[in-house]
Amino acid sequence: MPPLDEYIAEIQTLWDTHQLTNMGEKHQLLEKELTDFLAVKQLSLMVNGHMALEMAIQALKLEGEVITTPYTFASTTHAIVRNGLQPVFCDIKEDDFTIDPSRIEGLITAKTSAILPVHVYGNICDVEAIDRIANKYHLKVLYDAAHTFGEFLHGVGVGTFGNASVFSFHATKVFNTIEGGAVTFSNPDMYLDLYRLKNFGIRGPEEVDWVGSNAKMNEFQAAMGLCNLRHFKEEIVRRQVVFERYCANLDRVAGLRLNKVQVGLTSNYAYFPIVIDPEQFGAGRNEVFAALERQGISARKYFYPLTNSFDCFAGRFDINETPTALRISQQILTLPIYADLSLTDVDRICAIIMAMKNGDC
Ligand SMILES: *Cc1c(COP(=O)(O)O)cnc(C)c1O
Repeated sequence: MPPLDEYIAEIQTLWDTHQLTNMGEKHQLLEKELTDFLAVKQLSLMVNGHMALEMAIQALKLEGEVITTPYTFASTTHAIVRNGLQPVFCDIKEDDFTIDPSRIEGLITAKTSAILPVHVYGNICDVEAIDRIANKYHLKVLYDAAHTFGEFLHGVGVGTFGNASVFSFHATKVFNTIEGGAVTFSNPDMYLDLYRLKNFGIRGPEEVDWVGSNAKMNEFQAAMGLCNLRHFKEEIVRRQVVFERYCANLDRVAGLRLNKVQVGLTSNYAYFPIVIDPEQFGAGRNEVFAALERQGISARKYFYPLTNSFDCFAGRFDINETPTALRISQQILTLPIYADLSLTDVDRICAIIMAMKNGDC
């Protein structure tokens, strides 16, 4: 959170204008600042990341089948299904948890309209390979970029890949507007489409020509974003210190695999996942999770379970079609990481994990 007096100063003008929502001055300013900050051509703010996904799916007019991965947050798969589309699950790569491009072509049918890959823990998908496949089969590409706010790959803003990308500004994300999100894209026509979609399909005071939704970000959310954006760079620098301490403590431990920063990536250090091989490590993910919980430390089994194994989809998908994603979901643990986490606490967390290896716990 930003300093309280800074937020109060930011929302002060709302008591003069009395404009609380409907694309007011804070909204307009944040759209402009984020467009520059993320180095994208176009950006449309949304009430949250999930609605950003749904609005992007509708603006791109996706139909039929959409190739995606089950190794993600519920939102990605739900956005596809809630829009009457069929998710087709592709397995992920072992090393960076993103969609395995070598498996995409085998899943394409006459009904496929798009690929919806997820950048996971800040790792960017193989955007070049995905682009080649999309061009060959005339598919659209929509990235779930919820984990990658502020990242650049070889100096290129992550929001510029594919037809569109979706960001989340939820309170738990590395940059937040309390709840919030955005769609980034390069086709300027899409801006008006998204504007109408997030505002009931209203084109003019007496003209409604699209069955739109309500996904507008309000002025208080946008004000939070304006404040948090001023502190983002220093936040990332402090996260990097925590990240590197974890690496120093846990690197080269037999049975633990860390997530290395990709070559050419300006990372946001949003997550610190470890993959625990129970045979080699001597304790499984669930045991390490429980040991941390006993000491009051909240690690997360993120992502677990896979979205294709959710109860709401019972009988609909075969989780064995994505074996790598299934195994990783059983071995993954994301450790606490935030700017204010002290190095003493990082050492303590690592000591609890290492004690599991040595069987002292
Ligand atoms: C957080 C998240 C979302 C949803 O964003 P909200 O702002 O919470 O609606 C979608 N996809 C992924 C991968 C996420 O982590």
